[in-house]
Amino acid sequence: MKYLNHITEAIGNTPLVKLNKVTEGVKATILAKVEYLNPGNSIKDRMAIKMIEDAEAAGILKPGGTIIEGTSGNTGMGLALTAIAKGYKCIFTLSDKQSKEKIDVLKAVGAEVIVCPTNVAPDHPDSYYSVARRLNQEIPNSFYPNQYDNMSNTVAHYETTGPEIWEQTEGKITHFVTGVGTGGTVSGTSQFLKEQKPGLITVGVDTYGSVFKKYKETGIFDEKEIYPYSTEGIGEDILPKNVNFDLIDTFIKVTDKDGAVMTRRLAKEEGLFVGWSGGSAVFGALEYAREQNLTEEDMLVVILPDHGSRYLAKLYNDDWMRAQGYID
Ligand code: PMP
Repeated sequence: MKYLNHITEAIGNTPLVKLNKVTEGVKATILAKVEYLNPGNSIKDRMAIKMIEDAEAAGILKPGGTIIEGTSGNTGMGLALTAIAKGYKCIFTLSDKQSKEKIDVLKAVGAEVIVCPTNVAPDHPDSYYSVARRLNQEIPNSFYPNQYDNMSNTVAHYETTGPEIWEQTEGKITHFVTGVGTGGTVSGTSQFLKEQKPGLITVGVDTYGSVFKKYKETGIFDEKEIYPYSTEGIGEDILPKNVNFDLIDTFIKVTDKDGAVMTRRLAKEEGLFVGWSGGSAVFGALEYAREQNLTEEDMLVVILPDHGSRYLAKLYNDDWMRAQGYID
């Protein structure tokens, strides 16, 4: 008989799909890793289960415990699915710029959700980072995974995402392109791939309003780089421990508009109903391929981190897109 004992056993082993239409003018092969086919509809399922299992193994998370995390939604979904499988409670703190769909989805899988203001500094007591930390201190038998600095995040991608891409491309991958948020995806995957092929190039996709690109280029954490932006899941106003700058050869910044427009093109032209950061990553990959004059010899793998359903009220809504000035 072929069945899984729990839906969490379906995490990983996502397909790699060639992009055919949005690649006009680009000679290199562009392959997309479709992470919305994970059970929680995002790449974050991979690291969520890893953080929980590593905490159990270390004795930090005990039966009946509560998992408390600051999450933009996708990590929460992954943690909630694993928590259901293993009998834990979940409390998540989110910033108020996150889409309502993401919040409703977390509640649907049994989590308690606390919405916090976006436009406060990370160390402000009301920020979603600070609230999560405080609850962790107050609630007995609670575990704060802290996806930004918990290295199980990177290890999850070193153990799964990297090897899958290596096998799926039979080692022919030349460039790895992905959005950078906590940095787990880029660092773990890049480390595995570079160990197999030292010349492989890793491109991190960043947002305007985030500190990563400037930090990579100058070593300076420049607060002037920080301002509000709309793309969800990538770019940061902090330097998470999971971002290993040595494993990222270069960063490309993509505007909210370019990412949003490409996201809609992926749905319409490729049948890939993805979230915003997927559009940003593909836009960045195509821009890089054009700038570098990449050839038929090159094979880029781009991560599509999550599913479009979470963005129906925003970038898949024409009125919203017009109001932002993203479409005419
Ligand atoms: N895209 C989306 C939609 C995400 O939720 C995340 C996670 N923050 C990322 C991209 C970035 O992945 P990572 O945290 O591994 O850098």
